[in-house]
Amino acid sequence: MPDSCLFCRIVAGEIPATIVHETPDTVAFRDINPRAPSHILVIPRRHVDSVATLAPADEALAGRLLLAAGEIARQEGFADQGYRVISNIGDWGGQTVSHLHLHVMGGRSFTWPPG
Ligand code: 5GP
Ligand code: ZN
Repeated sequence: MPDSCLFCRIVAGEIPATIVHETPDTVAFRDINPRAPSHILVIPRRHVDSVATLAPADEALAGRLLLAAGEIARQEGFADQGYRVISNIGDWGGQTVSHLHLHVMGGRSFTWPPG
């Protein structure tokens, strides 16, 4: 794990975060700068740079991240209305933290395309 990785440090408990969901492989916490009434980041405990660097051996992990997103939506109470799950990848994708994360956003309506 890169010592300097912000999200690895959240997993390690070195940086505080409001954790809302945990599994043996994943952690989810509230985004510090929420873009929706409920904006949660779901990450693997183990460092992975992004969706682009998931390997075939990470197949189960990738599925668990999506399953966690669905559970969080139900837990947060916006599953029935609909919500958005996205992952930004690299510079042009708008990724600012290089530790794979799914944004799970709900509590308002979203437009498509996002811009
Ligand atoms: P990205 O831009 O890489 O797709 O998403 C990174 C997200 O991490 C941003 O939405 C940003 O607000 C959030 N973020 C950055 N630093 C922190 C932090 O220290 N704590 C929390 N909870 N979220 C953070
Ligand atoms: Zn990391």
